[in-house]
Amino acid sequence: MSKMIHLCLAKMSETGMEQKYIQEAFDTQWVAPLGPNVNAFEKDLEQFVCEGKRVVALSNGTAAVHLALIACGVGPGDEVIVQSFTFCASSHPVTYLGATPVFVDSEPETWNIDPDLLEEAIKDRIAKTGKKPKAIVPVALYGMPYDLDRIMDIANRYEIPVIEDAAEGFGSRYKGQVLGTAGRYGVLSFNGNKMITTSGGGALICKDKTDWDKIMWLATQARESYPYYQHETIGYNYRMSNICAGIGRGQMTVLNAHIAHHHHVQALYEQLLADVPGITVHTQPDTLCHFEQASCHFEQPTCHVERSRDISEISPCASLSRDDKGNMVSRNDMGNSRDDKPIYDSNYWLTTITLDPSLKVKGQENAYKQIITSAVGGAAGVIHTASTAVTDCQPNDNVEAMRLALLAAGIESRPLWKPMHKQPVYRHSPAYVNGVSEGLFKVGMCLPTGPCVTDEQVAYIVNAIKDNIL
Ligand SMILES: *Cc1c(COP(=O)(O)O)cnc(C)c1O
Repeated sequence: MSKMIHLCLAKMSETGMEQKYIQEAFDTQWVAPLGPNVNAFEKDLEQFVCEGKRVVALSNGTAAVHLALIACGVGPGDEVIVQSFTFCASSHPVTYLGATPVFVDSEPETWNIDPDLLEEAIKDRIAKTGKKPKAIVPVALYGMPYDLDRIMDIANRYEIPVIEDAAEGFGSRYKGQVLGTAGRYGVLSFNGNKMITTSGGGALICKDKTDWDKIMWLATQARESYPYYQHETIGYNYRMSNICAGIGRGQMTVLNAHIAHHHHVQALYEQLLADVPGITVHTQPDTLCHFEQASCHFEQPTCHVERSRDISEISPCASLSRDDKGNMVSRNDMGNSRDDKPIYDSNYWLTTITLDPSLKVKGQENAYKQIITSAVGGAAGVIHTASTAVTDCQPNDNVEAMRLALLAAGIESRPLWKPMHKQPVYRHSPAYVNGVSEGLFKVGMCLPTGPCVTDEQVAYIVNAIKDNIL
């Protein structure tokens, strides 16, 4: 890999557990899309998310969204409500099924689906089409929890299943509950840039054995119970490979350390950017409340636990830890009553900042003068040449100038997700908007936060940002 400081590069455990589990797969000839690593990885995930949930490991997070939609009965002509401010993997599977995503804008606190607008959309869709949307897909953007209580309340009142897209929010919690465990289904992703990786992979959290059986069956070509191949339903080849699951098992040994590290980097950015005028670091809402942590016994599957350095010195709210009974507890100690904990407990997958439109950045007069020749994220070297240097909805000139300046300094940064309701491919989809996601898209950017990012690099990045402000 290059010298570039990336947003979130995968980092393997220092104990080499990933390779040990892969070696085991080779030694036992389990080189297949099933096997002992897949089963054990699922058990690890079930222990981590607790709440008595069952998990199916899949080839990627997009497949998890796809199967959850199928299991919710989504088909041609149906509508599914999707948070507009997201990566395309939340909504594309809706279109795979011949259904239509109905996009709902965000609220400014969490940047996630606005509950008021959600209810308005449900009512309006029922009035306009005579049918209820088949599912609701809230998304934990950049790891930030959505307003789970209100979303579940609305969904329950209208009896619409919720598919939690926690692909970016693995390990984030709402009132102590791991995201993905409150809705009918919860989506996780283990792509190379997520909280933990299996190189590529995903999982679907299911509420019970019945749902789990159905997802497992759909993920393995929906084979009927006969000695020969009998097919009565269309299925998919979406199960995770035993090799990838070996990586996943190793990564579970550093999941808590990764989450702690992301918190640490976020706290460092907050501290170092605190007095830079015109730049705001996005933080979780600081609302606290008293809640009982679910008694959850995640046996971290190794004796060696990596620890992020100096967390306590920098952040008053550092990491997931264990209480004297060995239970996992959320971050707390924010100076309030001992029992009060943050309602929104983000894993801070990526640190995001916003740039005031009046902030002057070096070179902003030249932003967007050139057609970019590679897709964002450099998807496997795919080049699908853009026809114009600009679109009718893009980040402000100062944001693009900052991105280019950081790139020249060897720092990868990215605009926020462009809202789906502003994507040309979704121009015919209904959208319920309030301007929040579009406004954020124009002023926001993501900074390197991953497990490989060091304190020195954060200081270097912050200095590069300051150096480019006029
Ligand atoms: C990454 C991601 C997914 C799933 O992605 P895969 O790359 O297919 O694992 C789904 N939703 C969101 C919001 C994501 O960021």
